[in-house]
Amino acid sequence: MGLVVQKFGGTSVETIEGWKAILNHVCDCRAAGNDVVVVVSAMGRKGAPYATDTLIHLLEEIDPHIDLMKKDFLISCGEIISAAILSHYFEVHKLDAIPMTGFQAGILTNSKFNDADILNIDTQAIKKRLEEGKIIVIAGFQGITANGLITTLGRGGSDTTAVELGAYLQADRVDIFTDVPGVAVTDPRIVSNVSYLSHISYENMYKLASNGTKVIHPRAVKAAQKSQIPVFVRSTFSDNPGTRITNSAECSEQSIVGISYDKDFSYIRVKASDKILYDQLKTFSLFIKETDQHIEAYYKVGSRIDGNPHSNLSMVHARENLSKVTIFYGEKNSDYIHNEILHYLKQSTFPILDSFSFNDHVAIMLPDIHLEKCIQEIYSHLDTISQNLATLS
Ligand code: ADP
Ligand code: ASP
Ligand code: MG
Repeated sequence: MGLVVQKFGGTSVETIEGWKAILNHVCDCRAAGNDVVVVVSAMGRKGAPYATDTLIHLLEEIDPHIDLMKKDFLISCGEIISAAILSHYFEVHKLDAIPMTGFQAGILTNSKFNDADILNIDTQAIKKRLEEGKIIVIAGFQGITANGLITTLGRGGSDTTAVELGAYLQADRVDIFTDVPGVAVTDPRIVSNVSYLSHISYENMYKLASNGTKVIHPRAVKAAQKSQIPVFVRSTFSDNPGTRITNSAECSEQSIVGISYDKDFSYIRVKASDKILYDQLKTFSLFIKETDQHIEAYYKVGSRIDGNPHSNLSMVHARENLSKVTIFYGEKNSDYIHNEILHYLKQSTFPILDSFSFNDHVAIMLPDIHLEKCIQEIYSHLDTISQNLATLS
């Protein structure tokens, strides 16, 4: 008998169509000879009654400064509601199911409220229920500290719950079900005709995810790589096998790996003589450029620079509402691709503020308002580059 962990994201657990589709996936997986552990996210996205953002808003309305322990106590409820509803739905459809909180599932974390790390999973309770022939429906995104306080694992953290459970239970694979048919070259919400990848290595998926590609959480990818468990990103609403994430040895090299983006950056330029700010920038900036006269830096809004009492940011040259676009490529033909990207960026009509080159990627900074159009154009240009390379090889 095999074991598969199947995680269903917020849009999948939101509607009766979603529950039906989930039931079918779970039944198919069992019919193929597997025990199934289901992990669920909170229902829906921003605005939905039990979505994580809605729960956070309840606290923010009272006061935006929220004690993180109390915040975790509340937002863990979103996933618990989903687990209760889905296991009831399974039961009604004659499947013996049991809901579990992160705590009941034995998920121990450190005390980094709102962004906790899983330290251990005691799988005894899960295994006992599996032996009884039950389907376990576990609330994702949460755990408990050694002192018995509820924690959450950072936004998007249900993916991490699923992969860590897969690792501790030595599952055969983890399926991450979502609202798109797999990992695409870039966000399908921005490029509607984007191509999807049949497979991608842990390394490349981590690069994309840690630079803003939201389809899977970077920590989940790291955990999968550590335990060498295969992960499939696929759609709840189809039978398409989706994208397989495994070792690079099992993946053929892609010339263009993907385009990620991340919003909410600011830029500042300060006099090189401002020593205190200089040290802060060195520690917390994403990119930094130095001349004899000035230091220029891009940093994420909300990072420690924003809150630094020594940095009177209003006194320095600053720009807000910036985005970062990162284009990753493989080793094969990397010089050619790199040059093509730089050439394209030079003649592009977008107000690109800066570009930064690395051995496997180029990152550019630009105003938020140009983000979507810029990604669409870069995607279409890269598509041409890939096609040219394919005809050459
Ligand atoms: P879930 O609630 O299922 O966890 P998420 O919103 O976290 O869903 O992730 C799915 C979303 O990720 C998709 O709706 C898609 O817009 C976005 N996304 C961003 N980049 C990519 C990409 N390269 N491939 C696929 N989806 C992407
Ligand atoms: N519900 C949580 C969030 O919105 C966790 C998750 O969906 O993975 O971030
Ligand atoms: Mg997600």
